[in-house]
Amino acid sequence: MRINETFFSIQGESTFAGWPCFFIRTTGCPLRCRWCDTEYAFYEGSDRTIHSLVAESAALDVPLVEITGGEPFVAPELPALVRGLLDLGKTVLIETSGAFPVPAGLDRRSRIIMDIKPPGSGMHHTMHPEIFQALGPGDEVKAVLADREDFDWTLEFLDRAGIPAEIPVTLSPVFGECRPEELAQWVLSSGRNLRVQVQLHKILFDPQRRGV
Ligand code: SF4
Repeated sequence: MRINETFFSIQGESTFAGWPCFFIRTTGCPLRCRWCDTEYAFYEGSDRTIHSLVAESAALDVPLVEITGGEPFVAPELPALVRGLLDLGKTVLIETSGAFPVPAGLDRRSRIIMDIKPPGSGMHHTMHPEIFQALGPGDEVKAVLADREDFDWTLEFLDRAGIPAEIPVTLSPVFGECRPEELAQWVLSSGRNLRVQVQLHKILFDPQRRGV
């Protein structure tokens, strides 16, 4: 499996934010989001066996593992890796762009964190409501927003996708572009049950640093 990096850090963007987490970052992503902070993962990486990744995870006494990217959903080995990590008893998060369907054979005890890419990302044309309809209990949705237009577009997309109420939706401001207070006000005035968050890993660590 082509892997860009593995690292131990703090989960920064989901309902699991704040917990120590072992991260496995896959190589490759077909998208090109304007504010992508992991462009180094587009091509760089090395081949790893599923066994070695599972063993590395087992060696860490941490219950939470996140597979991120790049775009994990385009890696054909993903279901095997997820199964290996679940068999260790880990809680497995998979962060995905929202542009690709849930892979066949994926063990659904894993928890999908599916992004919505609003217009500010430049990738909103890759968003299709039917992809989000495959989400179920334990999964969640998140969006990073640059401005009010992104916020309004995201609300409209959530309505079109018909995401069930039990799936949490977390909204974060683009780091350095949108003020968190503004986003909080938009949420409060919308009357929607949405969760506001900041990209915690970018506050805790140098945002330019890899492996955080
Ligand atoms: S989906 Fe993620 S990895 Fe791919 S371009 Fe967008 S931010 Fe970067």
